[in-house]
Amino acid sequence: MGLPFRLVLYATTPALATNAAEAAWSRISELNGILSDYEPESELSRLSRTSGSGTWVPLGHDLSRVLIAANTLSRDSNGAFDVTVGPEVALWKRARRQRELPSKTAINEARRLSGWTLVELRQNGGSHEALLVKSGMRLDLGAIAKGYALDEAALVLRQQGIQRFLLSGGGDMVMGDPPPGQIGWRIEAGVFDTPEAPTRRFLHLAKTALATSGDSFQRAEIGGIRYSHIVDPRKGIGMTDHSLVTVICPSAMLADALSTAVSVLGPTDGPDFAAHHGAEVWIIRKPASTVEETQSAGFPGEPTPFPNQRR
Ligand code: AMP
Ligand code: MG
Repeated sequence: MGLPFRLVLYATTPALATNAAEAAWSRISELNGILSDYEPESELSRLSRTSGSGTWVPLGHDLSRVLIAANTLSRDSNGAFDVTVGPEVALWKRARRQRELPSKTAINEARRLSGWTLVELRQNGGSHEALLVKSGMRLDLGAIAKGYALDEAALVLRQQGIQRFLLSGGGDMVMGDPPPGQIGWRIEAGVFDTPEAPTRRFLHLAKTALATSGDSFQRAEIGGIRYSHIVDPRKGIGMTDHSLVTVICPSAMLADALSTAVSVLGPTDGPDFAAHHGAEVWIIRKPASTVEETQSAGFPGEPTPFPNQRR
C-alpha cells in the first residue's frame, strides 16, 4: 500500500508478543497483495485490467467487502468518495513529479474513466462479482484499504489473545484496550502545518479507530497553488482548500474512508455525512487566508476560540 505500519502491544510473554505481531503483519501483507494498486499482480490490479471487457469477475472475500463498502459510501456521499479516481490520481502524481498541471484534455479523459457507477457489483450464489464498465479504468483503494487492513490485523491480534494494542498505518490507527494503568492511548491530533493552526490536542483513545486525511505530506505545489492527493471527483483535480480531517469511529475502514470523503464534502456537508455513519469529525482548513475549524459535538476536546491562537 506504499506506507509504513507500526504496532505497539502488551503481552504476558515475549513469545506471545512475537507470534501475535507476526500473525498481524502476515495478514497485512496478504491484504497488500490483494488490495494494493502498486502491485501489478494484486487482485485489484488484475480486476482493473478487465475494465471494458464486459466480463463479470468473481471477487475474493476481502476485495468484495471493500468494494461493497466503497460502493455504499459513494452512493451516500453523492460520489465525493469514489474508488474509480485512479486515472485522476495518476494525473496528480505526474503533475507532482513534473510540477505542471495536466492539460484540460487529460483531465477530461481521466474524468471520463472515473465515476463510481462504472463499477457494477452483483451477487452470484454466495460470492460477489464486479464489472468495470469502461476500458482504461483504474481502481484506487488508497482511501479505504489501509483502514480495512488495520481492522483485519486488529482482529488477528485479538484472536491471538492480545487486547492492549495500538496499530497504525499511514496516519490511521486502531486501538484495543489502553496500556496498563492508562485511560487510553495518547494520540496527538490536529497537527496542521500553518502558523495560525488551532492548538493541537492529545486524545486518549481505546477500543476505537482514528483516521486523518490531509495534504500536509502529500501535495503538489504548482503556480503557488497546493493540490492535495485527495481528488474532488467532480472536478478531476486535487483539492485546493488545504485541509486536515480527523475522524473517530469504531471501524478503521469506515474512519479511513470517511476522513477522505469529508475532505471532499467540506465543512457544510461533511459533518452530517460523518454523523450519518456514527462517526465524530474534526475539520481544520485554510481555503484562503484564514483558518476555519468545525467539529462534531462528540469529538473529544474543545474547539479553539477564534481568533486562532498560535501554539
Ligand atoms: P486518505 O489518505 O485516506 O485520505 O486517502 C487518500 C488516497 O485515496 C489518495 O492518495 C488516493 O489514492 C485516494 N483518493 C483520492 N481522492 C479520493 C476520493 N475522492 N475518493 C476515494 N479515494 C480517493
Ligand atoms: Mg482516509
